[in-house]
Amino acid sequence: MHDRWPGMTLPEDYIGCYESTSGVLKSEECLRAYQQLAKSHGADIIVNSEVRKIVAHSNGVTIKTDEEIFHSESLVVAVGAWAPKILAMLDLDLPLEPIRKTFAWFHANEKLYNHNNFPAFTFDTSDGTYYGIPSINGSGLKIGRHDGGKRINPDGCIEGFGELDEDEGDLMRFLGQYMPADQKMKYGKTCIYPMTPDEHFIVDKHPYYPHIAIAAGFSGHGFKFSSVMGEILSDLIISGTSKEDISLFSINRF
Ligand SMILES: Cc1cc2nc3c(=O)[nH]c(=O)nc-3n(C[C@H](O)[C@H](O)[C@H](O)COP(=O)(O)OP(=O)(O)OC[C@H]3O[C@@H](n4cnc5c(N)ncnc54)[C@H](O)[C@@H]3O)c2cc1C
Repeated sequence: MHDRWPGMTLPEDYIGCYESTSGVLKSEECLRAYQQLAKSHGADIIVNSEVRKIVAHSNGVTIKTDEEIFHSESLVVAVGAWAPKILAMLDLDLPLEPIRKTFAWFHANEKLYNHNNFPAFTFDTSDGTYYGIPSINGSGLKIGRHDGGKRINPDGCIEGFGELDEDEGDLMRFLGQYMPADQKMKYGKTCIYPMTPDEHFIVDKHPYYPHIAIAAGFSGHGFKFSSVMGEILSDLIISGTSKEDISLFSINRF
């Protein structure tokens, strides 16, 4: 690993696993592509419109926003960190914990950390689990902490990056130990992971209303699976079943 990526400084007893087909998804471009595809299949996309109430009936659902009331035969609920609030409207109380997470971009020596010569990575260390992506078009090296974090209310006031001492401290400590080549922080951000106790997703039909499908608890690693999750969820509400084995994600395990 030292020979292949001289930007890494690793203890002698570390081992690495290289996935040659791995990469980085440009998430905003992915979302734009999904929206365009949905529209081309007849979907209406309504943005900035909060769902205030959902009422489940035996043969359909009623959904209220501030502007409109919708009636539907079926429903997919995928509301990220807000799942506990929305699922409570559907009589479900699942062990989902919204956790504040931090990540930041660092000025990087492009010879060492550019995407042409450095991989996306995750590090399982005795001080925590960290992940990162190389500098892409001069973006800088991105580093985040995957484990730990503080439980928060997603509708409450969430401390910005740097308001807690450990925000920058954690990332600097990781870099200092494993990628020490003169890194200075550009800027940091926070986001929310909705965590399940076993860190596996919840993707299933509602236990009392089979015409409602639920996708929740992606525990910080769901984006790369968005396309297959979309396929599974549409199959669940159209035919009631999925050709994929989704037993790992069942609601009943909680
Ligand atoms: C810092 C960070 C790094 C990550 N890195 C990775 C990674 O490297 N790889 C990976 O695979 N995944 C990663 N993830 C996880 C990934 O982003 C999530 O798993 C994925 O976005 C979950 O999708 P979702 O649709 O369930 O939720 P979200 O993407 O959170 O979308 C939920 C949507 O529901 C909307 N919503 C909520 N309540 C309401 C309401 N009442 N009415 C209307 N709309 C509502 C929200 O506004 C939001 O747009 C990361 C997440 C974070 C925060």
